[in-house]
Amino acid sequence: MEMTKEEMLDLGDAHCAGCFGDGVQVATGCTVGKGNIKKTHYGKIAMTLISSKDNKAVRSYVVPASFVKMEQSPFMQQRKPGVPASQASCDISQPSIDMVMSMPDSAFIEVTDVFDYELDSLVVQFKRVKCSKCQEMVIGKYANILDEEIVCRPCMEEVHKL
Ligand SMILES: [Zn+2]
Repeated sequence: MEMTKEEMLDLGDAHCAGCFGDGVQVATGCTVGKGNIKKTHYGKIAMTLISSKDNKAVRSYVVPASFVKMEQSPFMQQRKPGVPASQASCDISQPSIDMVMSMPDSAFIEVTDVFDYELDSLVVQFKRVKCSKCQEMVIGKYANILDEEIVCRPCMEEVHKL
C-alpha cells in the first residue's frame, strides 16, 4: 500500500516506543527539533529518517516479531502497568538489553532502500510577533489576525469557541 508523505512520519505522545525514537535520534542525528523525524501521532513503531541535504529518506521500523518477543519480556511486563523504565531493576532490564544487543540488526529493525523525500520547507523562520492576547511570542507564519490584532492559534481558537 502506498503511503502519503504524512503517513510516513510517525511516533507520538504516550507511545511505548518513545525511547526507541530517542535512541534513533541519538544514533542517526535525525531529530524532532530539526524536523527530519516527526511526531505525527499515527502511533506506529516506525519512522522516516530524512536527509534534507539531498532530499532522500529511508523508512525504518521495528520487525514485528522482535517487538512481540520484547513485549513478552519481564521488563515489558513490568512496564505495562505504568512502571517507568528508570525504576525497573537491573535484574529485569538487563536481559532485555542483552536480547536486543545480541540480535542481528536485520532481526530487530527493517530499513528500506533510499527513496526521494523533499521536506516542505527548509527555510528556518526567525520572524516573530507577540500575541496580543496571551503575550507569548509566535513565529510569524503561525500568527493570525483577529479583529485587526495579532493572535496565536490557541488564542484565536479560544475566541472562536465563545
Ligand atoms: Zn496567544
